[in-house]
Amino acid sequence: MSKEVLLDVRHLTQQFHLTKKIKVKAVDDVSFQIHKGEIFGLVGESGSGKSTLLNMLAGLEPSDGTVFHNGKTVEMPEPSRAMVYQTMALFPWMTVMDNVAFSQKVKKIPKKERAQIAQKFIDLVGLTGFEKSFPIQLSGGMKQRVGIARAYCSDPDVLLMDEPFGHLDAQTRYMMQESIEEIWEKEKRTVVFVTNNIEEALYLADRIILLSDCPSQIRAEYKIDLPRPRDLVSPEFMRLRKEITERMNSAVY
Ligand code: ADP
Ligand code: MG
Repeated sequence: MSKEVLLDVRHLTQQFHLTKKIKVKAVDDVSFQIHKGEIFGLVGESGSGKSTLLNMLAGLEPSDGTVFHNGKTVEMPEPSRAMVYQTMALFPWMTVMDNVAFSQKVKKIPKKERAQIAQKFIDLVGLTGFEKSFPIQLSGGMKQRVGIARAYCSDPDVLLMDEPFGHLDAQTRYMMQESIEEIWEKEKRTVVFVTNNIEEALYLADRIILLSDCPSQIRAEYKIDLPRPRDLVSPEFMRLRKEITERMNSAVY
């Protein structure tokens, strides 16, 4: 694994003004680095500031502090940082193929070439044969696959995933976790994976940062050296799960 830094996050702080007088601090002086090619897990309880932090990495939220992407300051969203959300906003009137190829259309790439690139990512996420289907015809997991293919299609350096499987049933969720890993093995991109599910983070991530309750601060960092694909019931996996769970639940940090 390269130690080349892709995203360098320095002293990020985010404060929301609810009214003129009332402010909520969501993120408090957070610094970390994300290496090229790794799966980086951002873990914290609901409301701890994970989405706020991820949005700042994307360039969606102005904030105090700086995010450097390949040494360049992040100022606004760019296709090189693709977002994957819990519910992907697919275009309901477009087929799977057109949804996936959409970013290419924006870039004015010729139709034939667009279809070839989109097909590659449709195959990669396991949706071969569903090119002409419409989103309404797909299950939740399949819609999520379309969203992931679309994100890859914009040829990003990094995929920013905000609890992408949060609303899926447990079985589908496991399948999606396996898919994310398989896709990552084939098409090495950096992935920042936000979740409140410690097991999910342990299954996927090379490194995990555990956030405190709101306002987010870094409570602990873990390097996960377990071989892939990971065995959810291996003693080491279960030991780490227990350790991180206890840390997450402890008020003292
Ligand atoms: P998480 O993704 O970990 O569940 P969020 O980043 O969504 O947490 O929220 C962290 C805190 O910041 C919460 O207290 C939330 O209410 C607050 N917050 C998030 N976005 C806004 C906003 N746009 N305006 C005001 N408060 C916000
Ligand atoms: Mg969130």
